[in-house]
Amino acid sequence: MAKRDYYEILGIAKDSDERAIKKAYRKLARTHHPDASSESPEVAEKKFKEISEAYEVLADADKRSRYDRFGHKGVDFDGGGFSWDQFSHGADISDLFGQLFGGGQRGGMGDVFGQFFGGGQRGPNNRGDDLRYDITMTLEEAYKGITKEVEIPRDGPCKKCSGSGAAEGGTARTCNTCRGQGMVQRMTRRGFMSTVSTDTCSDCNGTGKSIDKPCSGCKGSGIVSINKKIKLQIPPGADHGFRLRMRGQGSAGPNNGPKGDLYIVVNVKKHEIFQRQDNEIIFDLEISPAQAVIGDSLRVPTLSGNVKLKIPSGTQSGDVLRLKGKGMPDISRPSLVGSQHVRINVKVPKPTGKTRKLWEQLRDLDSEKPSFLDRIMGKFG
Ligand SMILES: [Zn+2]
Ligand SMILES: [Zn+2]
Repeated sequence: MAKRDYYEILGIAKDSDERAIKKAYRKLARTHHPDASSESPEVAEKKFKEISEAYEVLADADKRSRYDRFGHKGVDFDGGGFSWDQFSHGADISDLFGQLFGGGQRGGMGDVFGQFFGGGQRGPNNRGDDLRYDITMTLEEAYKGITKEVEIPRDGPCKKCSGSGAAEGGTARTCNTCRGQGMVQRMTRRGFMSTVSTDTCSDCNGTGKSIDKPCSGCKGSGIVSINKKIKLQIPPGADHGFRLRMRGQGSAGPNNGPKGDLYIVVNVKKHEIFQRQDNEIIFDLEISPAQAVIGDSLRVPTLSGNVKLKIPSGTQSGDVLRLKGKGMPDISRPSLVGSQHVRINVKVPKPTGKTRKLWEQLRDLDSEKPSFLDRIMGKFG
């Protein structure tokens, strides 16, 4: 079967620039990365490898020009086929598949991927797991920022044995299987990749010690699950999806190893009347035709309370009035505050008893001067 065209694989035009190529690859990588894909691992890996091969060529000016002139024959790996060690652009997507929340999935594709691209030179390691905590807040809370004490379950050293894992009178010796590392390296083959993965030593459960009388509190691991109270401080201006990393607030590692990190992920609830776009707030306001024609002075809600809004005479539907400094503060530069944008909608009322007469008078007054329609009819009639 003929090899597919690299441009076609990435779904881009032949004259795409570097940025467009990278963008297309990142988008496809998100879909087909075996960790993220909903396809079977074999299918996802095959596709992921295919797009990565295409990117390897098109992202490199020299390889690309050879490919453009000579097709697949122009690139080195045509004969032997593309292998992962020829892929040199892992850094372009490494941010998409970091090990942010990989604590519970060591040894999965995420890890393999990380090691492959040099992102996760883990080796024998006794660092504790990273933890994730989701916090949901209202837009008002996001505006002001919040301080909140939460209880987060995480691994901590066992108090009963001070983390040694040995019961009173018991002794802990270095585990022979892993020579005290707590981890063993294993060669595995998954789909297209042969890789060395690092697994927890099953003889000592990652503690690196073999214990003749294990502690009853932690079954010899030296680690127990404890609820830790943590004071969360989310600064003003957090947006939906904002992540805060708290170093060393994750789980304790085996063998009194370093703690992992805690990641706080912010969810901001949809607001009843305010819409948010980054630091800008959008507020829809209905006014009457009379207010639109004559103008008015109103009080409107903002995140910092009600404020006066002047509606100029002659305001149209769709006009946007800006309340400077009434938007969201910028999370990294609190002195920078967005605006509230008041989108005007002129609401046409149904005439009733008293107003019907007034509207009729207005209509008849208007009809004394030539209307838009009269002018048009004049042109075409
Ligand atoms: Zn061991
Ligand atoms: Zn213990």
